Amino acid sequence: MIQKHTNQRIAIIGAGLGGLCLAQGLKKNGLDCKIFEKDAAINTRTQGYRIRVNEPGRKALQTCLPQDLYTLFINTCATSYRGMNVLTTTLESSRNELVESWSDGIKEIPDLKPNRLTLREILLQGLQENISFGKELKGWTALENQEVELSFTDGTKYIADLVIAADGVHSKIGSEYCRDQKVNTGNITIYGRTFYSPEALKAISPELQKGTSVIIENQYSLIIDAMVFDSSRKDTSSDLLSPVSNYFYWAFIGDPEAFGLLQADFYNHSGEEILPIIHQLTHDWHSQLKALFNYADQKSLSINPIRSSLSKEPWPSGNITALGDAVHTMSPAGGVGANTAFIDAALLTENIMTHSNISMAIADYEDKMRIYSNQAVEISLQGGEILHGTNEK
Ligand SMILES: Cc1cc2nc3c(=O)[nH]c(=O)nc-3n(C[C@H](O)[C@H](O)[C@H](O)COP(=O)(O)OP(=O)(O)OC[C@H]3O[C@@H](n4cnc5c(N)ncnc54)[C@H](O)[C@@H]3O)c2cc1C
Repeated sequence: MIQKHTNQRIAIIGAGLGGLCLAQGLKKNGLDCKIFEKDAAINTRTQGYRIRVNEPGRKALQTCLPQDLYTLFINTCATSYRGMNVLTTTLESSRNELVESWSDGIKEIPDLKPNRLTLREILLQGLQENISFGKELKGWTALENQEVELSFTDGTKYIADLVIAADGVHSKIGSEYCRDQKVNTGNITIYGRTFYSPEALKAISPELQKGTSVIIENQYSLIIDAMVFDSSRKDTSSDLLSPVSNYFYWAFIGDPEAFGLLQADFYNHSGEEILPIIHQLTHDWHSQLKALFNYADQKSLSINPIRSSLSKEPWPSGNITALGDAVHTMSPAGGVGANTAFIDAALLTENIMTHSNISMAIADYEDKMRIYSNQAVEISLQGGEILHGTNEK
């Protein structure tokens, strides 16, 4: 029997990629939900620029999104190319081994490359009434009658029948309720972007303008993705989205020591402080590669530690659960963190729609999610070993 649970109060904590994808899936199936997001707005802080969406991630998005938004997502992605250029710091071709999950040689279509904010804005369409910004979850209490009382840092409360934490790597529900244990891998990412200004395009190698390029060094790697948007695919629905100019997305991933940083001191560097570190690292690189950083958008630079979840064991299932980074954090080296969050959202939607009993829907989701997310974490760690060697601390 398919019961739609229309009388259930479903609360999603966090309006990131995973939480919004779930809300879209529920909405598509006629279910209402409330989304609580701690930020004041969708674009109050930078959260990365390019997301690679692989085939399972794309299919999960297709399951959750209504056709018009799915088409908008496809049409607003940057142009994709098959394969990757593996290069040296002197811009010669290299035979270095690549991360397996990046390979798109046998895929139906190559990985898609949406601009992250654009994708989030698409995922937000039609949910404006459901979302409350400035709501940071502080705690939760299980009440009688299977209800859960959520409390927020602004002093407000909300009572839900089902709670899904999609509040990212620092999720309390993820770590305390779902017992997800995240460890610091000891590695970091430094990422940013460089806009396609006429001066930058003249100075940066045309080789880097062809899809994705990867440079693998001893303790770190650099990934460069040309994000070129095809304005001829724009239609009027694109007007709902913030304008995006073409840019190079680039990300270093590796051991902080390779960047001359101590393990403990890299957390609070501003963009202005990160750029000299990159200039020092790249001072003897090919000038057409270094130009990427000479023309970088200083405000876009970000430095972050890489965390990874330990293999998960079952926890008592109920009417509180979690998805995405909240319950399985993984190194960006595999490029599958957001893709796994989309898979969670699609599976949760399907389960909620097909199980007459919510607890069974959640228990089945958790059983399956533990298996595929443990695998995704493992693939991501293996990807990290290729990109920067082992560095467990
Ligand atoms: C440099 C880099 C590159 C990456 N590239 C890729 C890629 O190419 N492909 C890929 O699949 N993955 C990639 N990832 C991983 C991907 O970004 C994450 O896996 C993904 O964002 C997880 O989505 P999420 O919805 O679970 O969490 P998030 O996107 O982190 O969203 C969590 C949301 O919850 C909100 N929140 C947090 N705490 C609270 C609270 N207490 N109360 C209310 N709201 C709260 C946050 O403000 C945020 O909006 C990359 C990661 C990095 C760092």
